[in-house]
Amino acid sequence: MNFQSIGEFYQRLLVLLPFAANLLPEERARRFSYDDPKLWPYFYPQCGGSTQSPIALSALKAIPIGLAPLQFGLYEEPFDELLNMRNNGHTVEFSVPTTVFGERPYLTGGLLRDFYEAMAVHFHWGSALRKGSEHAINGRRYDLEMHIVHRNTKYASDEEARNQTDGFAVLAVLFKVVRHNYYYQPGLHEIFSSLLHLGDFNRTYTPPAFLTLGSLLGNLNRDNFYAYKGSLTTPPCSPVVSWHVFSEVLPISDLDLPKFWQLRDRRGRPLLNNFRPLQSSEARQVFLSQRPIADYVWT
Ligand SMILES: [Zn+2]
Repeated sequence: MNFQSIGEFYQRLLVLLPFAANLLPEERARRFSYDDPKLWPYFYPQCGGSTQSPIALSALKAIPIGLAPLQFGLYEEPFDELLNMRNNGHTVEFSVPTTVFGERPYLTGGLLRDFYEAMAVHFHWGSALRKGSEHAINGRRYDLEMHIVHRNTKYASDEEARNQTDGFAVLAVLFKVVRHNYYYQPGLHEIFSSLLHLGDFNRTYTPPAFLTLGSLLGNLNRDNFYAYKGSLTTPPCSPVVSWHVFSEVLPISDLDLPKFWQLRDRRGRPLLNNFRPLQSSEARQVFLSQRPIADYVWT
């Protein structure tokens, strides 16, 4: 710890204690702050435990392996209702609706032995001064990271899944800011345009378009990804997530990225730098699954 004195440490703890003592676990989990993630373990012990996320990913250190390809069930089918996006004070999020087939999109393959239903999407970002992806790839942090959170269909609730090591699968997409957006990405365009309506805490907005979950992946190469076992990156930091982080980084226009920076938290402060610092990768196995470029036969 880096506190100048034990006195200062207890002072900070006491400031936060009333939040922790009087709130239900669900409510408490919503009251964490990015001001000092080093304090999280005092209220959420798993945040100080092992198998935490995010971590630094490296093509040189990862184990190259041909994992089963990820399979994206119903990802290209339209949702049967419009999205309801919300500024929850920590991020912008929305619950994933069911598709026109009555089920939510689902994921399997990669490290997954079961089917995982897409439940929610949210983002992590930095500020004009700091890049804010959570994972780093080959020593670089990027500008934005999108998480598509999936829950194992074996479990009936988030609470139940948080207590099982195979509870969740998160797909992560990193973004890099570009001067002009040469690639029109319709789904992402709807999401980024909506941010201007979500400035204040608890604001909600419904983009007027029927989207698919797949449209949020743009034309990303879905074959190449890092995969490892980690945790939720927000309290309670449960070590129950199979992470799949795409190697390809998508572009985001320099007109869209700043739309994240104008959001505000529950205290009306700018909602910036909502990413957790890198955690130790310990002796964990990190895999890099890459599909051969083509079945091209050299003759
Ligand atoms: Zn996240």
